[in-house]
Amino acid sequence: MKSKQKSISILKRMKLSNESYLPIDSIVLEPLKAFAQAHDVPIIKDQGLRFLQQLILIKDAQSVLEIGTAIGYSALGMLAVKPELKIVTVERDPNMQVLARKNFESFGKKASVQLICEDALNYLPDPSQRFDMIFIDAAKAQSQRFFERFERFLHPGGVIVVDNLDFHGLVGSKPSSKNVRRLVEKIEAFIEYVQKREAYDTVIYPIGDGMSVSIKKR
Ligand code: SAH
Ligand code: MG
Repeated sequence: MKSKQKSISILKRMKLSNESYLPIDSIVLEPLKAFAQAHDVPIIKDQGLRFLQQLILIKDAQSVLEIGTAIGYSALGMLAVKPELKIVTVERDPNMQVLARKNFESFGKKASVQLICEDALNYLPDPSQRFDMIFIDAAKAQSQRFFERFERFLHPGGVIVVDNLDFHGLVGSKPSSKNVRRLVEKIEAFIEYVQKREAYDTVIYPIGDGMSVSIKKR
């Protein structure tokens, strides 16, 4: 009991500020973040990207499949910590595809990223392709479908990360809008589902907008 109290007080004393969660290369990425904020593009939060960057390094990931590119912010954030990383990223919105392509080019990362301009529910990688990590960050009601569609392309020991499980703090609440409520229920069902999957070691982290990390058992 005593030691538990002590560790809480250490955390309090440290007064972790948002700055301690700034992603690597956040200054270089700042214009993209500002663009996203100005145009209501829902990019990953600082804390979430910082976490993803550390996962890439801890896992020593060589390859990532990303579902939901938007303007390419999270993909460029992952490349910031590991320039030799190869990312396949899938985006269905033509406007986003144009912006992402432009951003990958201007960051000099065209060779590192394969942008798939397709609905992820129609796309499949080559049958022999395997990834070290899959980052699912597209339509939030579809996370389970994406998980089941792409998990076979993960190496044993690989990791599936799913973003926005907190959905701006709405998960666990009863939103008045019927559509939002339905979406929240879908996310809650995914949280239950992913924790039950015995082929994975899963933890849901209250980081960023809520992220699950599922390690595929060997
Ligand atoms: N990963 C990005 C944010 C992605 S926002 C970042 O953090 O920087 C979610 C994106 O997923 C949107 O651009 C949306 O168009 C795309 N999306 C949603 N459903 C999709 C689907 N079924 N297939 C491909 N892209 C999808
Ligand atoms: Mg997200």
